[in-house]
Amino acid sequence: MIIFKKAEGLRKWLDLQVEKRNEIGFVPTMGALHKGHLSLIEKSLENNKVTVCSIFINPTQFNDQKDFQNYPVTIEQDIYMLQKAGCDCLFLPSIEEIYPQGISEAKKIHYDLGFLEDILEGKFRPGHFQGVCLVVDRLLRIVEPGNLYLGQKDYQQCMVIKKLIELTGMKTSIVICPTLRERDGLAMSSRNLRLTESQRKNATAIFRALNDIKDNFETSDPAELKSRSVSQLESAGFSVDYVEIADAENLLPVTSADNKQVVALVAAFLGEIRLIDNMQIN
Ligand code: AMP
Repeated sequence: MIIFKKAEGLRKWLDLQVEKRNEIGFVPTMGALHKGHLSLIEKSLENNKVTVCSIFINPTQFNDQKDFQNYPVTIEQDIYMLQKAGCDCLFLPSIEEIYPQGISEAKKIHYDLGFLEDILEGKFRPGHFQGVCLVVDRLLRIVEPGNLYLGQKDYQQCMVIKKLIELTGMKTSIVICPTLRERDGLAMSSRNLRLTESQRKNATAIFRALNDIKDNFETSDPAELKSRSVSQLESAGFSVDYVEIADAENLLPVTSADNKQVVALVAAFLGEIRLIDNMQIN
């Protein structure tokens, strides 16, 4: 696996790939890699001649500085995992490489994400999706991949990045990959590393709540299901940002069980650790 810290070097290497007509798949991450990330790498390896992974903890997408400072870093293990998976290239840029004009200057760009930015993650993490767009925009302009691999775990983020690609007119296709879970159902996440042993046990309440919604959606009132889930999560020690049952196409809340594609989404804190998850309901 070849590792680049500078965009210029990476771009030169990618130009050689383009000359050879090698299709490029791209998996952006913030590191502390787990099997969920690797499933995206594997999907990209299957469908592209060249797979590029990036590891960059993007400061502009953290609305909580403590969360940024405490974000897990396991870079040596990450490199080992990527090498073992057969990833071709790792981009490991510094903050200066991604934001050469400085963060405050970069933040002057505004992406018109419409109501997506005002609901759910957008509402509870002000500025988060602008930061996501900034970094993904910059990375996509450097890598120019044919295919971009994203996890369904970050459901709303997938919608935001789709919108970003529409807004910028980039020619990248998005491939959304299913959420990988631990044996007990907890969605794999880098932040799980920060859970204490007892928090880790209680964290499965999210998966149980989502399954409860899924199992009872056809026969129950969504409002009742949501408040039951909140109670279940609070009993497990969570402080809940939201439980939502929404139209899978646009994330607007659904009020009854009709034929729409529906997704249930949860964001909740265990202590200082904020976990998110979602599940397709029908
Ligand atoms: P992150 O490093 O958390 O920014 O995640 C990088 C990419 O991996 C994003 O597209 C995530 O949606 C995806 N991802 C994170 N966790 C999982 C998981 N458990 N299963 C599948 N994809 C995931």
